[in-house]
Amino acid sequence: MPNNRFAFFNGEIVPIEQATVSVMTNALNYGTGCFEGIRGYWNADEQQLFVFQLRAHMERLHRSCKILFMQLPYTVDQLCQITIDLLRKEEFREDVYIRPLVYKSDPAIAVRLNDMNDAFTLFAVGFGQYIDKSALKVCVSSWRRIEDNIIPSRAKVSGAYVNSALAKTEALLNGFDEAIVLGGDGQVAEASAANLFIVRDNILVTPPITGDILEGITRKVVVDLAQNELGLNVVERAIDRTELYIADEAFFCGTGAEIKPIVEIDRRIVGDAQVGPIGSKLVQLYADMVRGRSERYREWCTPVY
Ligand code: PMP
Repeated sequence: MPNNRFAFFNGEIVPIEQATVSVMTNALNYGTGCFEGIRGYWNADEQQLFVFQLRAHMERLHRSCKILFMQLPYTVDQLCQITIDLLRKEEFREDVYIRPLVYKSDPAIAVRLNDMNDAFTLFAVGFGQYIDKSALKVCVSSWRRIEDNIIPSRAKVSGAYVNSALAKTEALLNGFDEAIVLGGDGQVAEASAANLFIVRDNILVTPPITGDILEGITRKVVVDLAQNELGLNVVERAIDRTELYIADEAFFCGTGAEIKPIVEIDRRIVGDAQVGPIGSKLVQLYADMVRGRSERYREWCTPVY
């Protein structure tokens, strides 16, 4: 059970029991909402909670709202402050997951985005691993990724996560840890809720932002780490399905997933069945960075207390 006590709801922090909506809420019926998933990391040595890439997430929330004709009455700075205020009120001293959500709040039987009221809420829960394994066995999904002209992957749309849930469920029921989803063009897009990188000949390759993916914040961080810390070339280009099978390394990245090395894809062993050297270095660099232990990346970590 979640361990949180409060939510920011209708403009103020209230006990979580009071943060409820009607069954007639438009977003509940039609998926007309957009959201973010943000992590905060507890640093026991410093007795500090660091929120990772807070601004970048709130900026993306604004972009999602723009695509969905949603009014968000708070600036990025205000959203960051609301987050900090809520976390302080909760007095969290553990890793947390933070969920801002903007949604069409009218009790309206109306399938449209214009001329409706929007609401904003934010809550946070104590949170450990999203995928509780250090090396994953995955499959290519029979489900295809939603396309930009269907439901834009670029926006983090609530209803779009039915696509993610179908892919993830199929993978789990078939005994895999996660799914890799191809785009409408048959090329690799991303995982159910994470971006994907492969390594070929010491070059890091990831699908471009025009490839029906969420423009992941962790994806950008990985590009920075790979270039600046590991001196690697990173190429954004389309990836064929069979390149997955012959990759030297592969891994997912995302706020929830963090960096998750993949050791098997569609029953083909990736590399030599172990987490590869680039993947394991990135896992370590990322773990230090998010807890505020890397001076160079400290600005990405917002202290709560
Ligand atoms: N793709 C999808 C579909 C996701 O849901 C997520 C998680 N937000 C990601 C990629 C990774 O994005 P980020 O690194 O910004 O969390």
